[in-house]
Amino acid sequence: ERQGANDDIDLLAEELALLLSNLDIRVVGRIDQRRASPDPATFIGKGKLYEVKALMESLGATLVVCNDSLLPTQLHNMRSILKAEVWDRSFVIMKIFEARAHSAEAKLQVELALCKYEIPLLKGLGWQMSQTGGGIGTRGPGETEFERHRRKLERKVVALQRKLEQVRRRRLNLRKRRKKTETQTVAIVGYTNSGKSTLLRALSHDEDIYCADKLFATLDPKVRKVSLPSGKLVLFADTVGFIRKLPVELVAAFRATLEEVNEAALLLIVIDPLDKDPVESLRVVEETLSQIGAASISRLIAVNKIDMLDNKEKLEAILERLAIHSGCDIIPISALKKINMPLLLKKVDETLRQGDFSSSLTGA
Ligand code: GDP
Repeated sequence: ERQGANDDIDLLAEELALLLSNLDIRVVGRIDQRRASPDPATFIGKGKLYEVKALMESLGATLVVCNDSLLPTQLHNMRSILKAEVWDRSFVIMKIFEARAHSAEAKLQVELALCKYEIPLLKGLGWQMSQTGGGIGTRGPGETEFERHRRKLERKVVALQRKLEQVRRRRLNLRKRRKKTETQTVAIVGYTNSGKSTLLRALSHDEDIYCADKLFATLDPKVRKVSLPSGKLVLFADTVGFIRKLPVELVAAFRATLEEVNEAALLLIVIDPLDKDPVESLRVVEETLSQIGAASISRLIAVNKIDMLDNKEKLEAILERLAIHSGCDIIPISALKKINMPLLLKKVDETLRQGDFSSSLTGA
């Protein structure tokens, strides 16, 4: 961790643990480091690195994850001292995107990010090899092999970029032709840890998943069929979560993965009232939605985890600030304790019907 406020470090560490649990990786220990600036060779400093090594050995851990972006040399040095796999925050996030990307476009975008991530690592390695390869100016034994692999990756980047362009054009055409008769989708959007997947579980009954939804359940565990009060069947889809401190090089991959919400009939934005500034969270979500072209999709805002707020006035104040900011009704819920689920479904039902009505008027 870099120097910063304590609660920020805890919040970011908690988020990282959550991201890792999405990848079925369990966190068994944590070491914090404070420095004025990162060590250029090892990021956390050599002494700290040996502390990490000792902890790993005592806990039987096999992976070290640094909650920040590492330079290729730092990554390489950490790996060789720890004799273990080392990931940085960017890599974890890419793995999440990789798991969550469904559309061809999102998959390509993530592959592109992974290639671009690997190229400088190979450069770092090539440099290391040539250092150990003998006198100044001589080439290391492994260098040509790394070079070859790197050049292959660079060609792949160009090919991926070309493919992306084609897929993008095809998708635009496809969306125009898509029929209205398809089952409508409600996309659940929000920050990681806001409770999106808990909400998805709360809304869907297990028997539905087993029988009616078998096909979807096997295709995508993040999509569930739900029947609304009017009897209408819709799909609820969990989407890739917003991540705090998203590394800039991953913004494109994040947006492409999130762009799948463009297919939704309704966006359900889940806000965590325990956030430092819930209105700011909502603002970032809304801004990103407009950037991916989802600004015109109707939306509902749910404030989750109300069971955690004993202070009623505080909750009221948050609801009011969000309502003023968004101009929408805000629905207070608890996904975990299943509070206000019928109300939420009723609102979804109403909003979808309004949408159907206005599009039949405009003939859109
Ligand atoms: P996601 O990353 O948005 O999918 O969030 P999760 O559904 O994984 O939830 C993150 C954490 O918040 C988990 O520990 C949940 O148990 C917890 N959580 C979710 N909804 C609620 C809620 O309504 N009340 C409380 N107290 N905790 C919740």
